[in-house]
Amino acid sequence: MSAYFPTMGLEIHAELLTRSKVFCTCSAEFGGTPNSRCCPVCSGLPGTLPVLNQKAVEYIIKAGYVMNCDISRFTKWDRKNYFYPDLPKAYQISQMPRPVCLSGTVNINVNGEDKVIRINRIHLEEDAGKLVHDDVNRISLADYNRCGVPLIEIVTEPDFHSADEVIAFIEKIKLLLQYAGICDCKMEQGSIRCDVNISIAPKGSDELGTRTELKNLNSLKAIARAIEVEIERQEELLESGERVIQQTRRFNEQLGETTAMRSKEDAHDYRYFPDPDIPPIIFTEEELDEIKRSIPELPEQRVARYVDEYGIKKADADIIVGDKRVCDFFDAAIAQYDNPKAIANYIIGELMRRINLGEADMDALKFGGAEFAQLVEFMQTDKISQANAKTVLREMIDKGGSPKDIADRDDLWIKEDNDLLAKVVDEIIANNPKPVEQYKSGDQKVFGFFMGQANKALKGAASPKAIQEYIRKKLSE
Ligand code: ZN
Ligand code: MN
Repeated sequence: MSAYFPTMGLEIHAELLTRSKVFCTCSAEFGGTPNSRCCPVCSGLPGTLPVLNQKAVEYIIKAGYVMNCDISRFTKWDRKNYFYPDLPKAYQISQMPRPVCLSGTVNINVNGEDKVIRINRIHLEEDAGKLVHDDVNRISLADYNRCGVPLIEIVTEPDFHSADEVIAFIEKIKLLLQYAGICDCKMEQGSIRCDVNISIAPKGSDELGTRTELKNLNSLKAIARAIEVEIERQEELLESGERVIQQTRRFNEQLGETTAMRSKEDAHDYRYFPDPDIPPIIFTEEELDEIKRSIPELPEQRVARYVDEYGIKKADADIIVGDKRVCDFFDAAIAQYDNPKAIANYIIGELMRRINLGEADMDALKFGGAEFAQLVEFMQTDKISQANAKTVLREMIDKGGSPKDIADRDDLWIKEDNDLLAKVVDEIIANNPKPVEQYKSGDQKVFGFFMGQANKALKGAASPKAIQEYIRKKLSE
């Protein structure tokens, strides 16, 4: 057991899903040929003037509401000055003393326990460009496509004491932003990036230790590992009588270690001053109310509705709501076939199993919720056996198509007439006098043997119920 406990706070940058950038009309979409989505404003040419994107302001207000923040009735923009080659203006338009959102809360659940994380502030700012380092030719190239993409920066209070809490929080934030429709949260594309402030103190101490900041972590795995490694490093320092120096550190995933980038700067190092080109905003109550009303149903409410209205188990509802793509798929499915429980079961039991096996990909499914629902309905109404439904689903995953067409083509329906059933079962009974004797002398266990044989021979052409009834009838003759 360690003699220290860690304390952490987060700064999360999330790119907003606006079509254009925050101060110009260039596309804010990810990617593109380097420097093809730039104009004089976002590449920082002198004499250009920024115009604030209204959608971006609307989105940060939504973010504030879903994280239970106070929305400032008066908000303004500031210049954060620093020189770095990914920032052609040499300042970032951000918000210092008057951010849009202040003091919120977000509920998380960590290993079964509820916890409230406090939000200090959320502000709106612009993203910087991207540097591509070419180690072979020893040059660095600048791509300014990302310059001016709107970001919200979510700053938490130092409320985290384990990596598990941090991960649970980021997952919750991702869900909230996705459901509110303001960020796609693709960490692999940098839509969400996380800085972790981290310090350790002796157990029982009221004071926080000196903190370091881990910069730009962009996967949950990297975040968890970086926290673990940094806590170890700080512990070793303190144990050997040294001090932790306040600094910004980078996590090297390959080496599994953090290295110093620079000594930590304070706010005054950035020489913040009000941006003279962007006027402050005063929101009216009507404007804020309208934005608040436009927020769609959030994850917690959805889980509650699925449990209350549809009778789905809480754990299952959590799984479905835990991935917005799955949740949208589920909604589309129940719109087609009103049997939420059966659809939820088949999504979790079969579709998500295939996804976890890597056989299917939610982003590239070749069928929609409606087709999936038809398949579930065929099963529920004894038109397709469970085994054949799996065959149909596999075909849908591989090639797409409607379950009806696939079942027609491959003759996978349960047959209405019982001639085949009778023929098959009669034959099995005639060929197995010994088990028949056993059954008749009271050994019920052999019934499973007949079921197995019949299922194998019928290949889904009769429903399990019909098979069962017919075998029972024949054996009692
Ligand atoms: Zn531009
Ligand atoms: Mn920032």
